[in-house]
Parts: sequence; C-alpha cells; structure tokens
Amino acid sequence: MNDARYRALTAGAAVVSAALAIVIGVQLSGYGVPVSLLLACCLSCVATFSSLLFRVIGAWSTTTHRCTRPGCDFRVSLTRTDSADNRRWREIAAHHPHRTH
Ligand SMILES: [Zn+2]
Repeated sequence: MNDARYRALTAGAAVVSAALAIVIGVQLSGYGVPVSLLLACCLSCVATFSSLLFRVIGAWSTTTHRCTRPGCDFRVSLTRTDSADNRRWREIAAHHPHRTH
C-alpha cells in the first residue's frame, strides 16, 4: 500500500469515526443528556472507533515475509510498501543467512 492510499484511508477512518460519534451524540441529545456528558461520550466514541479502524488499516497495510526453512522463525514485517519493495524483501527473507552450529 502506498503513502497516498494510506493517508486517504486514515483520513477516511477519522471522518467515519467522527460521523458515528455525531450520530450517537444526536440520538443521546434526544434523551436530555447534559452537554458535558454528551461531549465526553462523543469524544470517547471517536477515540474508540478511530483506534479500532487505525488498527485494522495497520494490519491491512502490513505484509509479513517468513523464511520457508523448517524450524526457522525469521520474518520481516513491512508497513506501507510498494510491490518492488515487497519483492526485494521477500527475496531477502528467503535468502537470509542461517546460523550453523
Ligand atoms: Zn531462515
């Protein structure tokens, strides 16, 4: 995933979180909830939704290359890379040096 796409996704996640919080806030205001409590509730909703979405985006934009040799747990995790980078790191993971005993 490239930088522009990552930025667009995180901006989208922030907007979605804010929109969800506003919807909840509007619904709560119908019950005569005081403004200070309404604000606290909306802010915690924004924090919860955005951290959840950022986590999903982070997991999405991370690629892990593992060594294929049995018993070897060497791995490389990459965030926000393009396909050329991905290919290079896949080869590095496949050909990394092994310790010999
Ligand atoms: Zn290995």
